Amino acid sequence: MSARPIPPTSELTEPYWDAARRGELVVQRCERCGQRPFPPRAHCPGCGGPSLSWAPVSGRGTVHSYTVAHRPPHPVFAAQLPLVVAIVELEEGPRMVTNLVDCDPADLEVGMAVEARFEPIDDADMVLPVFTPTRRPGSTGTA
Ligand SMILES: [Zn+2]
Repeated sequence: MSARPIPPTSELTEPYWDAARRGELVVQRCERCGQRPFPPRAHCPGCGGPSLSWAPVSGRGTVHSYTVAHRPPHPVFAAQLPLVVAIVELEEGPRMVTNLVDCDPADLEVGMAVEARFEPIDDADMVLPVFTPTRRPGSTGTA
């Protein structure tokens, strides 16, 4: 069995991964100008300030762009094809590269509403934030 690639972590990104383990999505916020940079930075890309704190976001956003992979980027992903790689724009502004899960690629469109979901990576103490289309109340979904 091949192991799934594990995202590298660092002192800078550990708060993001710790929050994901709790089922929470967090993004930095500049204490000087309010910008919400992502991925994590040591200094604000807007004003250069060094004071970036971590704050929760709603986990809601929209699809800014996406692509559908029909060949696995790594053998371990072969069972997940077609694999949707997307840029999701959070309602707070930051854009994240992520996977869209539990969706038919034929139903995808730019601008569609999505929400975060948290997927544990097998055999690793890590949880990966991914996104899935927002279900309307009363909808049963496709699972
Ligand atoms: Zn700033």
